[in-house]
Amino acid sequence: MRNSTETSFDLIVVGGGAAGLIAAITAARRGKKTLLLEKLSKIAAKLKATGGGRCNLTNTLSNGDFMARFGRDGKFMTPSLSAFDHRALMAFFAEIGVESHAPDGYRVFPVSHSSVSIITALEEEMVRLGVTLICSARVESLEHDGVRVSGVSTSEQSYSAPNVIIATGGLGYPQLGAEGDGFTLASTVGHKITELYPAMMPLRTKETWVAHCRADTIPKVEIRIDLPKAKNIRAHGDLIFTANGIRGPVVLDVAREITPLIEKYGEVPLLINMTKGLNEEQLRAHIKNEIYKNPEQSILTHIMTLLPESVSRELCTLAGANPDSGFNKLEGCQRDKLIRLLAWTPLTVIGHDGFKMAMITRGGVSLKEIRPETMESKLVKGLYFCGEVMNLDGPCGGYNLQWSFSSGYTAGHLGKLTSKKEI
Ligand SMILES: Cc1cc2nc3c(=O)[nH]c(=O)nc-3n(C[C@H](O)[C@H](O)[C@H](O)COP(=O)(O)OP(=O)(O)OC[C@H]3O[C@@H](n4cnc5c(N)ncnc54)[C@H](O)[C@@H]3O)c2cc1C
Repeated sequence: MRNSTETSFDLIVVGGGAAGLIAAITAARRGKKTLLLEKLSKIAAKLKATGGGRCNLTNTLSNGDFMARFGRDGKFMTPSLSAFDHRALMAFFAEIGVESHAPDGYRVFPVSHSSVSIITALEEEMVRLGVTLICSARVESLEHDGVRVSGVSTSEQSYSAPNVIIATGGLGYPQLGAEGDGFTLASTVGHKITELYPAMMPLRTKETWVAHCRADTIPKVEIRIDLPKAKNIRAHGDLIFTANGIRGPVVLDVAREITPLIEKYGEVPLLINMTKGLNEEQLRAHIKNEIYKNPEQSILTHIMTLLPESVSRELCTLAGANPDSGFNKLEGCQRDKLIRLLAWTPLTVIGHDGFKMAMITRGGVSLKEIRPETMESKLVKGLYFCGEVMNLDGPCGGYNLQWSFSSGYTAGHLGKLTSKKEI
């Protein structure tokens, strides 16, 4: 990696995130004279923050299951994943000195559990390959004649190349570099940008009782969207209460789906099972058994066999039940209401903090105008895309990084894709 006064290259990669870095490495390994331009003073700011600094690189799902989690457009990934799936990604990192593993058999992390080890290895590989890196260089425009791309310009300098890869990310966490520049660049050459929504962020709720449960973490929660047209949208995982709503992995997954619904309906009703999937009948049996074992104990004590104290108290209040009295003293309708609340607690989403706290952008450069076998634009020759700038987003669990790496690998070929073994 060297600073340079040269201005003519085979390839210019715009953006030094996960997608851009692997694209630059792939192209350089294939003998291309490569320039990487990064707007921030350092590369990979977002990559560093991934997985809370531990970097959930990918997951162990089969390519079919992996693509299915991206919804209808998931199949767009077929050529990229066939050439560079999670095994190839793990092998690539092992080759540049970073071993990775899946401690839970599913989510893959570097063994170091540090995103810095990933970034250092990528940087060292770029140095080894002689990739030219210029930081604090924001690309402001694309040079083209309407048919072919011929370079890019920053406010200070123009650079020429017959190939340009746009790897500028989305709009989420703008302090980490991605502020939507790629959408502007792509639209200047006629690319359609689909509607953009923040995805994967904490949600605000109408119910204020959540504040009393702040910081309580509930494992293995199921969330459903309680709208007729969104009944099939469900998510599973840990939930954390906040001062004004909910966050945690299960919330990130449901938040992916929810932003267009909030825009349409104003508020979105949720149903939440916090009792590890127990239904009303099973809850009745559970509580009956608790009462049998400890007949003198209060309702609160029985419910606390399922939930933390603060949440148990709030559900009692919602059911109109005195938490300190015995379960048998409850009226039938209160008992039924409490059981119903334990099975499905209602919450109403009324907002979120937008892109500022969004880990992912939903929407981007339309896939209809990109060739899935190469990531090349169908409108302008020599122009390629990779990573989050495109209209594909996956759930929490290593999906988005794998896609960034796979699409970056494909784009870095600048044409015909070969399998991992051949680079
Ligand atoms: C806090 C957080 C945690 C996450 N954790 C995970 C996780 O554990 N696992 C997972 O799979 N996904 C995770 N994600 C999502 C994942 O990080 C992104 O999907 C992925 O990093 C996108 O990579 P990218 O290279 O496309 O974009 P980015 O990583 O956003 O990189 C784009 C780069 O382009 C640069 N740039 C932008 N505009 C210009 C310009 N005009 N000129 C020059 N440079 C420019 C930016 O500064 C940036 O460095 C997380 C996201 C966040 C915010």
